[in-house]
Amino acid sequence: MEYSHRYPAYPTQQVVGELERHIDIHRQAYNYTLYEYEHVDADNIGSAYKHHYRLPDWKDEFPVFSEVNSKALQRTVTRFYQNLDGLSKQKQNGRNVGKLKWKSPREFQSMTFSQSGFELKNTSGRRATLWLSKIGDIKIRYHREIPDAADIKEVTVKKETTGEWFVSFGLETDDADLPEKPAVDSLDASNSVGIDLGILSYIHTSDGQTVDWIDLEDERERLQREQRKLSRKEEGSNNYEKQRREVAEVNRHIRRKVLDYQHKITTWLVRKYDAVFVEDLGVKGMLEQSHNARNKQDAAWRQFITLLDYKANLYGCHVVQVKPAGTTKECAKCGVKTAKPIWVREHSCPSCGFETDRDANAAMNVLKRGFSELGLGWPEDTPVETALPTDTDDVREVSAKRVVETGSLGVVRKTKSSAMTRRSASRTTCPRGDSHGPHE
Ligand SMILES: [Zn+2]
Repeated sequence: MEYSHRYPAYPTQQVVGELERHIDIHRQAYNYTLYEYEHVDADNIGSAYKHHYRLPDWKDEFPVFSEVNSKALQRTVTRFYQNLDGLSKQKQNGRNVGKLKWKSPREFQSMTFSQSGFELKNTSGRRATLWLSKIGDIKIRYHREIPDAADIKEVTVKKETTGEWFVSFGLETDDADLPEKPAVDSLDASNSVGIDLGILSYIHTSDGQTVDWIDLEDERERLQREQRKLSRKEEGSNNYEKQRREVAEVNRHIRRKVLDYQHKITTWLVRKYDAVFVEDLGVKGMLEQSHNARNKQDAAWRQFITLLDYKANLYGCHVVQVKPAGTTKECAKCGVKTAKPIWVREHSCPSCGFETDRDANAAMNVLKRGFSELGLGWPEDTPVETALPTDTDDVREVSAKRVVETGSLGVVRKTKSSAMTRRSASRTTCPRGDSHGPHE
């Protein structure tokens, strides 16, 4: 499987100068690819693979292209064709898209080294060094180990709009080296969990735990403040540019905090359980570019499910998406459907008398559907009967601090005893900046 790890990077002033110079040469290469694609009639144009054969000619004509790593240069040509591909896919989906444009320096802030021209070294503790050909050494904060079984396919160096640098490693792990998933017939209510993606609490599990949504109130307030300041600056002025960076910084901070939090919860889930069932949100609305709260929440859940899905393979856990319709209405015990307005927080079945929290009932239904999806019957030992009394006092709160992971990806070891996970997790301090994902 393919995934990526991202790390903050701290190049020296001298290396920053080199990185910026190289990225700008790549930008020119990108723009030149676009130029040739549109204006030059030659055999070697039309696909990334063919276009690579033009690079020797480029270097003869413009010696500046010889100053950067040649594999990385090829990768930039490929990047153009990938963008082209993305554009035509959007077109097929009926979106009104223009054509690819020349990139200004602000729009082009990264380069990718592919296959060679880089080396990750001195990985000890939370520090490591990335060597790049024709550039030099860059210190990185190595907060998460790259698994031994993983191959580093490529490295992308990126300067964020805030001015901070990041490197992200494109990794590939042979499927044979991944931990095996537990046998399906070993799954039962004690090692599996259904998740309700809540409105009030972040997630609600079928075994009666809730994880609250992180508090972003301070960040949102700061964002509004900085945006107000920006609106008072004259567009294009130095002060405007400075303020624009402030706004970008707050936005990035929020995104990182959310991602960091989702990483912790998803890792906690796949380590603790053998199977995690979650509602399928479908693909509809994914392309809708609306900024209302509902869509933002949807986007957050999709990111959450994407993370869960990719960790399922890394940690050897079943993750199954189930049909979401009616999980709230249906009684988890007897299956009778009862309409339930949003403000009714309890489930109280008029047919069988089963009472529990509204979201707990939904999570149990998700668990039930997960079992049936895997071809398993509903086990006798259900959480409905045993683990979860109707008394909601028992619904424990799991704070973000308590669900932090205790190890790194490098040590793929699952702690199946929930008590152990909680005990060790509660002693662990929060690993900062855990901001990487499968799609960066
Ligand atoms: Zn019932």
